[in-house]
Amino acid sequence: MKYLNKKLSIDKVNLLKIAKKYGTPTYCYSYSRLKENILNFKKNFKSISPLICFAVKSNTNVHLINEISKFGFGADVVSVGEMMMALKAGISPKKIVFSGVGKTTNEISYAIDKKILLINAESKSEVVEINRVARQKNKIVKIGLRLNPNTDAKTLSQISTGKKENKFGVNEKTFYEIINYCKNSQNINLNCLSVHIGSQILDHKPYEKMLKVVDNILKKTSHEFEYIDLGGGMGISYTNENKKLNYKKYNLAIKKFLKNKQCKIIFEPGRSIIGNSGTLLTKVIYIKDSESKKFIILDAAMNDLMRPALYGAIHTTLPVIKSRKVSKKTYEFVGPICESTDKFVIIKNFQELQEKDYIAICDVGAYGMSLSSNYNLRTKPLEILIKKNKIKIIRKRQKHKDLI
Ligand SMILES: *Cc1c(COP(=O)(O)O)cnc(C)c1O
Repeated sequence: MKYLNKKLSIDKVNLLKIAKKYGTPTYCYSYSRLKENILNFKKNFKSISPLICFAVKSNTNVHLINEISKFGFGADVVSVGEMMMALKAGISPKKIVFSGVGKTTNEISYAIDKKILLINAESKSEVVEINRVARQKNKIVKIGLRLNPNTDAKTLSQISTGKKENKFGVNEKTFYEIINYCKNSQNINLNCLSVHIGSQILDHKPYEKMLKVVDNILKKTSHEFEYIDLGGGMGISYTNENKKLNYKKYNLAIKKFLKNKQCKIIFEPGRSIIGNSGTLLTKVIYIKDSESKKFIILDAAMNDLMRPALYGAIHTTLPVIKSRKVSKKTYEFVGPICESTDKFVIIKNFQELQEKDYIAICDVGAYGMSLSSNYNLRTKPLEILIKKNKIKIIRKRQKHKDLI
């Protein structure tokens, strides 16, 4: 995204044109950015030729998943709904892994019927249940088992998943117990060890620690795993801090880990693939002056983009039309919802804004639309894909008649 003739543009399409034609709030995705992310990700791990399963929960748009599938990606899903969406988008069942701590009997049954690659179980009870459902169907099912490596991902506590106090995975002791259980169960094959320590990780060291823990466990068991699923979590740069995950070092650590092992690596990236390809286009409804600052009241709210309200996330926020005049007062960008947490960002020295101006909230491709809701009975936004300077509607704006 850049300014062309002072107009913020994706490729050569300026966002003002989109806002005027299609209204706001609207999610706009850049195909060229998505493609660049995919190719970079593949390049970074080329030497270990992993299976890359896109984490569908980060963005569930069927057209985007379809574009991603064309690069040979599989999918990591966390519900039967996501599994249906991934299949609908053209992802081969042989490349689908199913994660999550609370899969229901129906979900397990559906996954077995669709013959997906792996059901990644997260508890003894779940393994027992998968075995029971598989036995009923007279099938043998490939499963993974998620280890909780008790590793601090050094990320926001709300999106950290690999510490022992987190609900995810099983501890080392239980891990061995389940290996033994699987040995004596006829309807499951324990093929994969999986880990996922959290999201928005920018330091390679937690990954190195995680690999060490996994390596130690593999040393202590004679069980052979066909796959090691290392999850996702690779962070992106949201503001101008420019902190970046060192993929070279992470890749190197994995190569070391793989020495004398026969297993194939699986990744489950979401954010690093789709995060910076999305922009939320929104309009200034009112400007309200208070003593110390001005509230910029937008037509987008926490129901459209929940990350700031949920985790205090900060997104780069830009004017769609650039001018030189700088506001004397600090701006607080807020939504119209009746919650004090319905605010996006506070910015000093922003350019002077008028009511009806358009604003772009950047890097919202991951956990943007997928976390949206109908709170306050607001309809969900439109989604647009910009590919080779062409505008394609990839999800219609929800209508009130769908809600009432
Ligand atoms: C959320 C999640 C991911 C994706 O995380 P990102 O930070 O978006 O890469 C991968 N695997 C599992 C099990 C997850 O829960």
